[in-house]
Amino acid sequence: MLTLDTIRQELAAYDGPPVRLMEVCGTHTASIMKNGIPSLLSGKIRLISGPGCPVCVTVTAYIDRLIELAKEPDHVVLCFGDLLRVRGSRISLSDARAEGAKVRMIYSPFEALSLCRENPALQVVVAAIGFETTAPVYAALLEEAIELKLENLKLLTSLKTMPEVIRWVVRESRAEGRITGFPAPGHVCAITGYREYEELAKETGLPFVVSGFEGEELLCSIYALVRMQGQGEARNLYPRVVSYEGNTAAKAAVEKYFEVCDASWRGMGAIPGSGIALREAYAAFDAGSRALQEDHMAAGCRCADVLTGRITPEECPLFKKVCTPANPHGACMVSQEGSCFNSAIYNR
Ligand code: SF4
Repeated sequence: MLTLDTIRQELAAYDGPPVRLMEVCGTHTASIMKNGIPSLLSGKIRLISGPGCPVCVTVTAYIDRLIELAKEPDHVVLCFGDLLRVRGSRISLSDARAEGAKVRMIYSPFEALSLCRENPALQVVVAAIGFETTAPVYAALLEEAIELKLENLKLLTSLKTMPEVIRWVVRESRAEGRITGFPAPGHVCAITGYREYEELAKETGLPFVVSGFEGEELLCSIYALVRMQGQGEARNLYPRVVSYEGNTAAKAAVEKYFEVCDASWRGMGAIPGSGIALREAYAAFDAGSRALQEDHMAAGCRCADVLTGRITPEECPLFKKVCTPANPHGACMVSQEGSCFNSAIYNR
């Protein structure tokens, strides 16, 4: 039987053709770095942190719009803590708050419900960013808001979906053979199922392995991907959470409120069909999400190259000089799921 020790030894001794695996989940990135997994691998196996951290891929126009809303009379913007420090084209939400804009940090979007009820004259705007994993939460929030007949709740959405951005990354990197496989995102697959990743594997000719988040699970997934090089197949190594069809109730809730749209990704531009937006029937809850495409990266920031695996965070000239976790210059250094943040904290 294959033991974890054998897996570790084989991954450390691997001497075959170069393997370059892109994880597209911020929690995978954080766990890989926290567990020191790159240091256990042969130099011929490289892990690349792709566009899987929601804060990292949010365009500046979205932050600018939140700031605009937070400055309107009788408005308050609610967001998670990491979004506060991401710069828009000029300043961050945290800077805007220091200038008097009304921005509040939340731990759950459901905090918006009591705020709306207790302050009917206040327009409460929730910053709704994330992937397939987060979208059901916003669908449930709308369901409750409608039941409570709240008319002062709005969402500014930047909700993205994985398959189209993966296709984009594969197309864009194909000529250089920059990516040879993907640990498929475990949390996303818990909602969507892994059927889509089977289709992606067939279509791209690359292996996909649905992975859990413990160090051992990631190591096993990497081992499987190394063994599956050159095969357009998908495997599910996270069966205790992920099924083939996913969570059908969550998917139905998302389908009820949202429809597929084009979405803009930081440094990558607009990718057709890579996001979801509120359906026309629920437009009253939308704070103007659809037109947000402008993206002005901070001067010298190479986030786009990091997110597509063209460079490592350490190859950005600003890494740990101008740009640090305490004083982030670009979005990938802000979030605990960002590749630059994790490299700065753990890659010593
Ligand atoms: S180190 Fe900072 S400036 Fe450089 S790519 Fe990362 S986030 Fe951008």
